[in-house]
Amino acid sequence: MPGYYIICIENKTEYFQRMGAYIQGEKIGTWLMTFFDVNWEKLDKESLQVIENDRTCDPLSDRYYDYFMKLKNELCPIHPFLDILISDKFMGEMFSDMPPILGQPCQTKEWDYFQAIKQGSPPPVIEDELLRHWLHYIHDCFDELAELQKMLLPEMEYIMLQEDPARKTILEKYYWVRTRNHSAYEIYARSQYQNFQVSFELMKNNILYNCMTPDCEKPKKMEANIFLTTDSLVAVTILEFDNVCARNIPMQHCANCNRWFVRKTKNNRFCSRPSPQNPEKTCQEVGPNLCYQEKIEGNPIADLARDVKKRVYEQAKRELANKPNAMKIYNIWQLNVDNLKEKAESGEITYDQFAQAVDHSGAEVIRNHGELFPYDPIV
Ligand SMILES: [Zn+2]
Repeated sequence: MPGYYIICIENKTEYFQRMGAYIQGEKIGTWLMTFFDVNWEKLDKESLQVIENDRTCDPLSDRYYDYFMKLKNELCPIHPFLDILISDKFMGEMFSDMPPILGQPCQTKEWDYFQAIKQGSPPPVIEDELLRHWLHYIHDCFDELAELQKMLLPEMEYIMLQEDPARKTILEKYYWVRTRNHSAYEIYARSQYQNFQVSFELMKNNILYNCMTPDCEKPKKMEANIFLTTDSLVAVTILEFDNVCARNIPMQHCANCNRWFVRKTKNNRFCSRPSPQNPEKTCQEVGPNLCYQEKIEGNPIADLARDVKKRVYEQAKRELANKPNAMKIYNIWQLNVDNLKEKAESGEITYDQFAQAVDHSGAEVIRNHGELFPYDPIV
C-alpha cells in the first residue's frame, strides 16, 4: 500500500502529509517550481558514478554514506516533497531490507549502518550487495524524474510562454498537448494516474483525523476532502502539472533568477524566492534595481540574446502556416540560448563564443536548428 505523498487539490492548494499526521498546505504550483529547479539528470549521473566508481580504495560503505549524507543535506531543505523522497522513500527502502526485529533490539551490522545514516554518524562496513541495491534504487528513481523533466519542459514552455494564434489560453494549449495524435504526454499521464489511491479524510486544525488524533475542544478549522495517495513523485508531478494548466494558472521564468514561478499579476516579472545575488532578499526586491542598472550600463550578452530571440520568434510566426512545428523549434532553441547566456554571464564561455553559437538569422535557425543546437534542455 503506497502512502508517502497524500495530496488534496482544493481551492488551488496542495496539501502534503508530514510526520505521520500533519498536513501542510501550499499554493498549487509550489512543487512544480521545485521540480524544474532540480537538475535531475545531474543527480542521475552522480548516482551512477557512485555505482561505477570502483577504482577508489574506499569501501563502498563509506562512499555510500558520504553520498547519501550529501543528498540529504542538499535536497531536504529545498522542499518537503524532496525531504519525503530522501527521508521516507529512500530510507524506507533501506529499512525494508533490515532483518525482522521481533521486538528485540537488532544487533546486525546492517541495522547499525541504517542507524548511522539516520543519525549522521560514521557507519560500520557492510556487504556491498545491499549497498548496490540501494544505489540502484536511488538511481532508478532519479532516472525516471530526469526523463519526466525532459518530456515536461518543452510542453511547459509551450503552454505557459509561447504565443499561438490558434490557441490563446493556457487551457487551450494544454488541451492541444493532451489531444494531439499519439501524444506521448497523454499516454504517460494516463499510466501515472494508476499510481494513485483515493481516500476520504477528515481534518481538524490541519491535522488528519485518525484514532490517534488528540481531541481538540475548539477546532478552528474542520474539513473533509478527497485525498489522492501515492508513493510516486512522478505521479505527483503529473498531477500538479495537469492542475496548474487546466486551472489556467500562469507560470513563467523569473526575470532575475530564471527559475519558474507562479505569476500573480500580469506585470509580475520577479519571483518571491531568495535571490542569487543576496539570499536575504527576494528577486522581487532586488530584480527591478538590477534591470535598471543593466539598462544604464548596457549588457551585450543580454542584448544579443534578446535580439536573436526576437528575430527567430518573428520568423517562426511567419513560417507557422507551412511549418506547424516552427514555434516548437523556436521554443526549444530559445531554451538553449538561455543556457548559453547563463554560461556567458558566469564567464564559462566568452562573449565571442556565445555570439558564434547564437547569432544566426531566423530562417537559418528554423531550418538547421538540429545542427545548431542538439536539443538538451538540462545542461
Ligand atoms: Zn527569481
